[in-house]
Amino acid sequence: MGDRKTLSTAQGEHVLHPQTLMTSYGYDPMLSEGAVKPPIFLSSTFIFRTAEEGKTFFNVTSGRTPAPEGQREGLVYSRFNHPNSEIVEDRLALYEGAERGVLFSSGMSAITTVLMALCQSGETILTSQPLYGGTETLFNKTLSRFGIQSFPLQDTSDLSVLRQDANQATQRGPITVIFAETPANPTNAMTDISLLAQLADELEQQQGTRPYIVCDNTLLGPIFQKPLALGADITVYSLTKYVGGHSDLVAGAALGSHTLITKIKQMRSAIGTQLDPHTSWMLGRSLETLQLRMEKAADNAQHVARYLQQHAKISAVTYPPLFTPGSQLSVLYDKQCTGGGSTFSFEVGQNEAEAFRFLNALKIFKLAVSLGGTESLISHPASTTHSGVAKAVREKFSIFDTTIRISIGIEYADDLIADLRQALEAL
Ligand code: PLP
Repeated sequence: MGDRKTLSTAQGEHVLHPQTLMTSYGYDPMLSEGAVKPPIFLSSTFIFRTAEEGKTFFNVTSGRTPAPEGQREGLVYSRFNHPNSEIVEDRLALYEGAERGVLFSSGMSAITTVLMALCQSGETILTSQPLYGGTETLFNKTLSRFGIQSFPLQDTSDLSVLRQDANQATQRGPITVIFAETPANPTNAMTDISLLAQLADELEQQQGTRPYIVCDNTLLGPIFQKPLALGADITVYSLTKYVGGHSDLVAGAALGSHTLITKIKQMRSAIGTQLDPHTSWMLGRSLETLQLRMEKAADNAQHVARYLQQHAKISAVTYPPLFTPGSQLSVLYDKQCTGGGSTFSFEVGQNEAEAFRFLNALKIFKLAVSLGGTESLISHPASTTHSGVAKAVREKFSIFDTTIRISIGIEYADDLIADLRQALEAL
């Protein structure tokens, strides 16, 4: 148990940066014929040295007995854990300073498994707005069928409004989770995590139990935002985006304390939302360049956003470093984030047809949903990712028929600007 790892994060007094650790942490080459890179462990099951060991491993994996001090569950069966997912879980946790991480087959299965592990029928979840369309649908159409109600928060920047909403929400049942997507896809609306933590403290006084703060950190994390350090209990990710980073895999993750992640991992084992060895291996490879890619994409995004902001045919550019200085959003951005990422939205044209005309004229930008890849992607949220969200709800949060979402990649910035210029000229 646990002894197959190389888990040192320092050389003497010198603490190593995650960027260094991404190439080595949690993998002992001498256990794999000296291979510098981890092999893909395509095995569904793992041999026990003795029957007694098998019994102990099963007791620990199923949560019947805790793992021996300082150790983890042994390898049993790949739906529960396998070497490729463990390596990535350990490495990803390092980037946020989390005690533990757990991988999933997608961002949606990460969110669903976390909520299934934490919530019971009859309980209520408070949510920030807007949310990624799939998450919104999960809350409104799926979890509601199992008696878990969600309650959208009207204004996450004002504690008195949060209190009013929470009071109203508790009429439906105790609040177990406060779920925030910040920055939110696609508008970069931000939620103050420290205010949610204050609200959670107050709710603990009222209800006797403290709601867990779950934060979707897909858009900036783990490089430019670390919600656990800001007061969240669990961070969830669509690793399909920046962490995978090449638009060639689908995966998700949750990070948090040892106790919470152990509980979530047990739910993952029960319902089978684990990630496969091959995709886990690809993520391990992606993590080695995560910082480089996100920094380069953010640098490109600065150039593109500045170009769009001054263009006469464009309005409402939501790139966080360009939020109006001194505004509430700008103050929150400075407090919570160390970089703006490379996904933002803007308005073009007077109606859907004009927005489509602009999109159809682009040659380098790829017209596709998703974000965070090495290539620049562009999409029309109202008719795609957020088409399942009622028009009145999405318009309330500034997702109009003229809203465009852009995800800047690592290409040469001037080429991206030239492509946008020619498409805008065609309008
Ligand atoms: N969270 C956010 C913010 C997203 O943008 C997405 C997908 O676009 C998801 C979660 C869901 O992730 P996945 O597609 O990996 O299931």
